Amino acid sequence: MVKICCIGAGYVGGPTMAVIALKCPKILVTVVDISISRITAWNSDQLPIYEPGLDEVVKQCRGKNLFFSTDVEKHVSEADIIFVSVNTPTKTRGLGAGKAPELTYWESAARMIANVSTSNKIVVEKSTVPVKTAEAVERILTFNSSNISYQILSNPEFLAEGTAIQDLLNPDRVLIGGRETPDGQKAVQALKDVYSHWVPEDRIITTNLWSAELSKLAANAFLAQRISSVNAMSALCEATGANVSQVSNAVGKDTRIGPKFLNASVGFGGSCFQKDILNLVYICECNGLTEVAKYWEQVIKVNDYQKNRFVNRVVSSMFNTVSGKKIAILGFAFKKDTGDTRETPAIDVCRGLLGDKAWLSIYDPQVAEDQIKKDLSMNKFDWDHPVHLQPSNTAAVNQVSIVGDAYEATKDAHGICILTEWDEFKTLDFQKIFDNMKKPAFVFDGRNIVNVKKLREIGFIVYSIGKPLDP
Ligand code: NAD
Repeated sequence: MVKICCIGAGYVGGPTMAVIALKCPKILVTVVDISISRITAWNSDQLPIYEPGLDEVVKQCRGKNLFFSTDVEKHVSEADIIFVSVNTPTKTRGLGAGKAPELTYWESAARMIANVSTSNKIVVEKSTVPVKTAEAVERILTFNSSNISYQILSNPEFLAEGTAIQDLLNPDRVLIGGRETPDGQKAVQALKDVYSHWVPEDRIITTNLWSAELSKLAANAFLAQRISSVNAMSALCEATGANVSQVSNAVGKDTRIGPKFLNASVGFGGSCFQKDILNLVYICECNGLTEVAKYWEQVIKVNDYQKNRFVNRVVSSMFNTVSGKKIAILGFAFKKDTGDTRETPAIDVCRGLLGDKAWLSIYDPQVAEDQIKKDLSMNKFDWDHPVHLQPSNTAAVNQVSIVGDAYEATKDAHGICILTEWDEFKTLDFQKIFDNMKKPAFVFDGRNIVNVKKLREIGFIVYSIGKPLDP
């Protein structure tokens, strides 16, 4: 029986391994993590992450061929294939701070693999890492153990949070990069054999190691670039009277461009887009490609600009001050169908409003109160690109209340900011909400999900991204 061990039981490691276990009943899959609380949650009815369909998959396999454990060394030493899916956040200090990814977790995982291995291993990079990481990992492994052969593969993950299970069950492609040596290709084939249980042959792409590592960064950069492109257009639409939805529709009908990822919004978030573009920017700078670095950095600058623009619009529309006013924040997660708040635009928008002394009443169907308070009280790292949003502090967090539904959040509010596109916000009783708000009642729709005409008929003053302000 092939044994797989995955180091890192997070948003990627957990769902990915659950799907491998589901589709490969004859493979024994163990997910390990140093976080006791995370592993306890994976072994309970309250999984540590919210992802549609995940509960069912885990329930079906857990205890049969899917296990979660904190006994990292034991399961790593017994495995044939080791996935490494640890976090690779942006460095906050030292060389490359603010751009380069922090590879400490990766390095300690690699050193631990070398220490405990007594048989040959295939080590799979699942985390998103800089190009050439496999070379560094190879060195760590081979210098720290003897008589053991390691094959390093790059198998970046393309799932999107909120649709992770669907993405894993039906991926656009699976990418496997390996050494072009006979042993390297044998390892590529071993991993292909795992995915072939459910992924059609023509969707499994094999490349060299460096192409696979770079493709992940490139894919996220292209996706984020599309969002920044349409958001940049949204500013121009507001200035000229064009409607960004109509422009996106017209542009997206061109089959060379396509309609996906063309929704204007308050900005992108999530743990990956910004981090991976900064990673790309850093690699470009290290290779002396200054103009290429500047090109990709602009994607993040436009995203920051969009968040600032949104905050400024809220404040300027409400008679140039939100001081002492209650603003309802609907949605805090960075997108719908996830409870993940990493880099969510809601953090910057809330901080901007708190900076102007607003009182915030926040509702999100999946994000816990503690998480929101933690996000808003953290010191924001001072990137070297300009983010003008004001950092919050513990005092400002006293101006925040977290409530249990949208009606409570909006009661007696002067304005509403919709920051996550949760389906339930589309079907709210806006007449009831209007009746219970201070007047004039404002709606700032950061996700363009409300029926603007209907809300204006009720009496709201509505601001949508990239749309004409007049009724
Ligand atoms: P995460 O923070 O949710 O999970 C990482 C886990 O690794 C944590 O639970 C942590 O405790 C554990 N860990 C760290 N060091 C460890 C060690 N030495 N031994 C055992 N466990 C250790 O992160 P994530 O969102 O799952 O992302 C993991 C990687 O996948 C990152 O590189 C990320 O860029 C990439 N990725 C993320 C997504 C996404 O949507 N979240 C998508 C594609 C790729």
